[in-house]
Amino acid sequence: MRRVLILGAGFGGLATAHELRRLRPDDEIIVVDRATHFMVGFRKTWAMLGAEPPDAGRGRLVDLEKFGISYRQGNVTAIDPAACAAEVDGERLEADALVVALGARLAGDEIPGFREHALNLYDADSLADVRRALHDFEGGSVSIGVYGLPYKCPPAPYEIAILTHEFFKARGVAATVEVFTPLPMSLPIVGAAGCGVIDARLAQHDVGFLPAHTATGVEEGAVIFGDSRRQYDLLLGVPPHRCPLVVQESGLTGDGDWARVDPRTLQTDFPGVYAIGDVTAILMGNGKPLPMAGVFAEGEGQVVARRIASEFDGGAPQELFDGKGGCFLEVGDGLAMMVEGEFLAQPEPRVELSPPDAAYLGRKVEFERERLRSWFGGPA
Ligand SMILES: Cc1cc2nc3c(=O)[nH]c(=O)nc-3n(C[C@H](O)[C@H](O)[C@H](O)COP(=O)(O)OP(=O)(O)OC[C@H]3O[C@@H](n4cnc5c(N)ncnc54)[C@H](O)[C@@H]3O)c2cc1C
Repeated sequence: MRRVLILGAGFGGLATAHELRRLRPDDEIIVVDRATHFMVGFRKTWAMLGAEPPDAGRGRLVDLEKFGISYRQGNVTAIDPAACAAEVDGERLEADALVVALGARLAGDEIPGFREHALNLYDADSLADVRRALHDFEGGSVSIGVYGLPYKCPPAPYEIAILTHEFFKARGVAATVEVFTPLPMSLPIVGAAGCGVIDARLAQHDVGFLPAHTATGVEEGAVIFGDSRRQYDLLLGVPPHRCPLVVQESGLTGDGDWARVDPRTLQTDFPGVYAIGDVTAILMGNGKPLPMAGVFAEGEGQVVARRIASEFDGGAPQELFDGKGGCFLEVGDGLAMMVEGEFLAQPEPRVELSPPDAAYLGRKVEFERERLRSWFGGPA
């Protein structure tokens, strides 16, 4: 019997664990996470604005045990890739294969004033505060901003801006909503034509769009952009994303900022050690990083599981990550678009933005339901 240690029970870690369980029923699989529950990223948006209680749509990690996957709640305090081992709250765990799937760290502290004045849109622990602030808001200007690159699910801030405006309109609250990004255009991966479609959707929903806006700080009532500033009454933000410190300290990042991997095999510089999902930096054909998305973390996890299983079986691993996938973009009125394609195509990614359709919203709902069912046996 072999032991596989998976650090992180997000999209990547869960996909790896379940695929390995399927392929190697007798091996020991240990998943470590400090959290007790899993939640699909976009559920946070529904939890802020929706009618359902904020803790709907969560999977209990302890339910992994039903599938014969050991769940260990704790903090990963050190990683020793040369020995295929890690420390959880100071206790050393050794394994025959190690998968690092610890996601990105949200680093609001890097923007002066962010922590004091902004509500963090991407932090599950801030959800109740964001929901309360939105439901209690009586009118005025709402600023939704991207405070650093790269960040998870690049379409999400636009979706949040449109849905926030729709939410206030439905409640008869007089609010102006604007969204800013340091990027020169809304979603560069879909090109100028695709960005034009997104910009038009924002305009149609009266959402102001400020590209090429790099926030340098926040103070009470205003976001600072170098020499200029914009007033706000309610401030919602996506903080800078960074590699978790425990990964940086492990040597897995080499001389870069994120875990260094082969883009097709997800193998790190250390034998038997893989890194997947948001913790990695994989470059696309155009030299830009592969977007941080659950679908990619999941696809990478499945590839890694198959490669590990093949190695354990004594074969030569063949499975390669293809970079195919897509993200949903809700655009109001019960419609969603899909940003989808072959992100690792050469020489350029081939990615398209679909026309808005209610069917995509249905697929989005099903996307969450399917993962909660297959990974946990259903919602908590
Ligand atoms: C609002 C929003 C909408 C999104 N919409 C989409 C979408 O439509 N489609 C899509 O594909 N993606 C979407 N995403 C992005 C997606 O959620 C992430 O890209 C995905 O979760 C990355 O998976 P991962 O496994 O790399 O990391 P994560 O899912 O972040 O998992 C990392 C895990 O590691 C744990 N962890 C970290 N450090 C430690 C430590 N030291 N000790 C113990 N545990 C630790 C964390 O608790 C976490 O559970 C969205 C994200 C957001 C915020």
